Amino acid sequence: MLKALLARAHQGHRTTAYPDGEPPALPERFRGAPTLDPSRCPEGCRSCADVCPTDAIGGDGSLSLDLGRCLFCTECVTACPEGAIAFTNDYRLATRRREELVARGQELALADALERNLRRLFGRSLKLRVVSAGDCNACSADVNVLGTIGWDLGRFGINYVASPRHADGLLITGPVTENMRLALQKTYDAVAPPKIVIAVGACAISGGPYAGHPEQHGGAASVVPVDLFIPGCPPHPLTILDGLLRLLGRIEDGSRAVSSRTA
Ligand code: SF4
Ligand code: SF4
Repeated sequence: MLKALLARAHQGHRTTAYPDGEPPALPERFRGAPTLDPSRCPEGCRSCADVCPTDAIGGDGSLSLDLGRCLFCTECVTACPEGAIAFTNDYRLATRRREELVARGQELALADALERNLRRLFGRSLKLRVVSAGDCNACSADVNVLGTIGWDLGRFGINYVASPRHADGLLITGPVTENMRLALQKTYDAVAPPKIVIAVGACAISGGPYAGHPEQHGGAASVVPVDLFIPGCPPHPLTILDGLLRLLGRIEDGSRAVSSRTA
């Protein structure tokens, strides 16, 4: 017992202070919010769009990048001869509306909070049923990581629960395969209203790398209404946590300071 107590004292406090303190250091190769500079694009150039595996880049003459489709592979950055696309280390990516995920320059929306009545209900206690609707396990892994001591999601009153009957909403990963479509619909129906839905990862937003395959449905919104979109493939746990806390009104700064062009 004494040994265990000494070990605990030696280990100290491991949970990140975020959002009250600085966010944890991100790895060098982390790719966050993109910045686009369409003024650098030569007339008719499609180099970036041609290499994108998910058609995330708009090719209608005005450069755009759909974060709901993006896999953050940086192939477009490598392909662009003019340096018009870069990825920063800004982990804040979640939005409330699907269309806000389409970046057109350096401005990107940040998720705003739930309506006042829902914040009153869920702001201090939010129970989520996680539904893996055909994901590759990477999004699920980063969702699960939030329950560990390093992140301690429970300190915000957010918990994962085993039954939709005990849940206030769903957190969905995966593109919604045909095999999971009915299960997702039934799980949603089993949650008592009012309820919220969170789509985590490119698959759950757009089908991700599986978009267009006949055995998947192109994301959660094809089956249920979505209240929060969290991009990434997979999203970093910090990106997921930031999105959840913005939805609950626990982070209210609306400014985005895109600090560095790392790629
Ligand atoms: S980083 Fe995103 S936009 Fe660029 S090529 Fe990869 S998937 Fe497409
Ligand atoms: S978004 Fe990427 S990491 Fe998440 S389930 Fe799809 S392929 Fe896997």
